Amino acid sequence: MTAPRAAILSVGDELVLGTTLDTNSRTLSLALRDIGLDVVEHRTVADDRGAIAAALRDLAARSAVVVSTGGLGPTDDDLTRDALNDVIDGGAAQVEDPVARADLEAWFAGRGRAMAAINLRQALRPRSARIVRNPGGTAPGLAATVGACRVFCLPGPPREMIPMLESDVLPAVRPAGAPAIAKRTVGTFGIGESALAEMLGTRMARGREPAVGTTASGSVVSVQVVARGADAARRVAAEAAECRAAVRPYDFGEEDDTLASALLAECRARGRTLVVAESCTGGLVGGMLTAVAGSSDVFAGGWITYSNEMKSREVGVDAALLAAHGAVSAEVALAMAAGACRASGAGVSIAITGIAGPGGAVPGKPVGTVWIAVHDAAAGGGRARRFEFPGPRDIIRDRAAKTALQLARWMLRGEDASIIWERA
Ligand code: AMP
Ligand code: MG
Repeated sequence: MTAPRAAILSVGDELVLGTTLDTNSRTLSLALRDIGLDVVEHRTVADDRGAIAAALRDLAARSAVVVSTGGLGPTDDDLTRDALNDVIDGGAAQVEDPVARADLEAWFAGRGRAMAAINLRQALRPRSARIVRNPGGTAPGLAATVGACRVFCLPGPPREMIPMLESDVLPAVRPAGAPAIAKRTVGTFGIGESALAEMLGTRMARGREPAVGTTASGSVVSVQVVARGADAARRVAAEAAECRAAVRPYDFGEEDDTLASALLAECRARGRTLVVAESCTGGLVGGMLTAVAGSSDVFAGGWITYSNEMKSREVGVDAALLAAHGAVSAEVALAMAAGACRASGAGVSIAITGIAGPGGAVPGKPVGTVWIAVHDAAAGGGRARRFEFPGPRDIIRDRAAKTALQLARWMLRGEDASIIWERA
């Protein structure tokens, strides 16, 4: 059975001009492929009624499914509805859709705002199209057929488009009898992709079922597990669990877990509170932790102790220690971590001090040198480790922050391993 063909149309001057990156095409391609469609083309056109209509006609003639995004707003440059109307109803007068109108009125009423007259245009639809309701915004989508092709027009903002794709488009176009696919992602941190592949061994062999692969992004190396066919959900879960066991302790979580959410969960499970004292990361660790909803029950706060003076005054680092070893040293990292626990009463602390560059290197401490300490108040001690993170300033800081989260996680779990950038 050959997979039905699908094409994706992106509409917007901002996409053609390059001021907005077209992420919708990627999201759509991944989602459509997941349910068994063969995505054969991406096309991008400006806010031009003729160009949109021509693209819809052309793509519809060659595919079973076309999904467009953008151009459904209330303003004059939003032309996808009119273009679709030209294609399917020859430009005839459009009709007001009662459900679309009620949704629009409810949207504005719910926000205590008066609806501008031009918004009513968004309740119009071509006679032979149906609307796709948009719970996250004012622009409904449209669904129609062009010849044998099913066409869906969705709004451009990803946070409106994605729920509509999932609730309406995917169920409608999922090929009957397509094999079930189940996927699972395991996040790892602290190990390179090739070393991780070695730990996974023959699990990664091509043609194996479930399939196991790796991808790297933001220094997190993910293990992707994909199972197809009968019992896919159970088999993918079992394979993911075995992959995790094979790469422990680098695995920190699955699906949407982050290093921060994983550390918070470990703290929560043990009833420990967490604080940070950050120098070269300037609050990145605190930012990652507080990005997780519900972090407040575990994360108490912290300090950005960027100057030596702040390291002494806020978390009690002895000036003599700073003078003797320099701010970027095991001794200062340990003192920052101990001081953060002492000053806050928290059970666990993370301290980071390093040289993010591009300047600031000294003999024996090249750019990227970072000391990270984790202190455990219950054990009455901490451990500092030295890293040399490669890359520009932003990458060094990001890697340092994530490494700190992983080290704190390991400390709580009683696990240990070497980190790829560690230099004794
Ligand atoms: P529109 O539906 O044309 O009013 O789109 C409104 C906004 O959605 C644009 O200003 C962009 O910020 C965003 N947007 C539109 N198309 C895309 C796309 N292909 N990828 C990502 N964002 C988009
Ligand atoms: Mg637009």
